[in-house]
Amino acid sequence: MATIFTKIIQGAIPSYKVAEDDRFYAFLDINPLRAGHTLVVPKFAEGEELDYIFDLDDETLSAMMVFAKRVAARIREVTGCARVATVVLGLEVPHVHIHLVPIDSEADVDFRAPREKLSPDEFASLAAKLAM
Ligand code: 5GP
Repeated sequence: MATIFTKIIQGAIPSYKVAEDDRFYAFLDINPLRAGHTLVVPKFAEGEELDYIFDLDDETLSAMMVFAKRVAARIREVTGCARVATVVLGLEVPHVHIHLVPIDSEADVDFRAPREKLSPDEFASLAAKLAM
């Protein structure tokens, strides 16, 4: 069965897309720690999704980080944040993903903190600004 992120990549579930190439997809996290919080995911064949990032082969892992680097640069440019935190948890969705979170201090990357609430219009306008 396809993961929720594969359904997002396929367009079966809507998302606020930031970037895409033939191997990776980046979209706004629906429950952001901060505006601009983005997820980067690899495209897998349906039903063959890997859950754990370090199960990726070396080349895919490297290529994913290079893709994430480009997205992070864009997030920093658009949000003006001090830096973009790169976090891997993967406790909720069993499909490899990297969190890119714009931060100005360590407190901005506390996953136990209440999430920011954005309206659909705010999500759409942010995604349009970040789109690469
Ligand atoms: P993790 O698996 O790394 O613990 O967290 C998964 C992340 O995916 C969470 O930050 C959550 O908000 C996000 N997420 C879960 N379901 C969806 C969804 O349907 N759409 C989007 N855009 N994000 C999601």
